[in-house]
Amino acid sequence: MKVMKFGGTSVGKPERMKHIASLLQKETEPALVVLSALSGTTNALVSIGNHIAANDRHSALQTITTLQEHYYSFIKELLQSETTYNKAKAIVDEHFDFLNIILKISFSEALSKDILAQGELLSTKIFSCYLEEIGESYALLPALEFMSIDENEEPQIGTIRTRLTQLINQNKDKKVLVTQGYICRNARGEVDNLKRGGSDYTASLVAAAINASVCEIWTDIDGMHNNDPRIVNKTVPVEQLSFDEAAELAYFGAKILHPASIWPAQQYKIPVKLLNTMEPEAKKAH
Ligand code: ADP
Ligand code: ASP
Ligand code: MG
Repeated sequence: MKVMKFGGTSVGKPERMKHIASLLQKETEPALVVLSALSGTTNALVSIGNHIAANDRHSALQTITTLQEHYYSFIKELLQSETTYNKAKAIVDEHFDFLNIILKISFSEALSKDILAQGELLSTKIFSCYLEEIGESYALLPALEFMSIDENEEPQIGTIRTRLTQLINQNKDKKVLVTQGYICRNARGEVDNLKRGGSDYTASLVAAAINASVCEIWTDIDGMHNNDPRIVNKTVPVEQLSFDEAAELAYFGAKILHPASIWPAQQYKIPVKLLNTMEPEAKKAH
């Protein structure tokens, strides 16, 4: 089984989500697909949490409403059949009802983590509706049932392996398994996360836990570049990198990879490939 992680920009537009599904349909190997939230969503959820913490409920409500409108138009464009559209609409309503209820509750750290989790919960459920619409054989594995961190915020690979293997075994007949990146449960059993950009870390951890054939990180650029393309002109992709070199670049700010995401793959000897969702045949860095 391979692990395929798609980042925010890769799922951020309906046509991109459809494109991912078509990539999956071409796959011959079963895949565990890790999804980020739609691009912009986690930033919006951070600001909702900040507004609530500052007791600015009006701004929080405004941000929630704008985000909800975005999801309504997203599912309208993504889904053609009435059945799957209605399903997705109910999902969007359920998650935004939750955010609106939170507005009435006093702020806590735990509550802010619940807010942040909504992005990946929404993206995976909406993507599942699309897979259903096109008749793809899939199952949604809830990350909150198997991704866990201990009291030092370290992932518990052993526990993750046991729980995830059980879920995979229950879905042996499915070609595509979908799960949320970024979110997990902490030692107190509360909803938590692996920090910003943490979906890469989820991908690498689950790849290590299930001994995947490869961990593919699909993003909006053709691999790790020799410099940050947002700052430096004319950067070029680096074709091959050692795990140590990749970890060093990520640690010193190469945003393409979450800095912690290298060690599980390195320790458990899982090859990591960085691929461009928009150009699947572009040079693959690994
Ligand atoms: P995703 O949403 O797929 O996780 P990110 O935005 O987190 O994508 O990471 C990809 C972005 O990382 C690229 O669009 C690029 O602007 C930025 N980036 C920063 N440094 C590098 C680098 N050295 N190589 C490639 N991309 C980099
Ligand atoms: N959605 C989370 C973030 O924006 C995790 C991720 O995309 O990797 O940080
Ligand atoms: Mg990222």
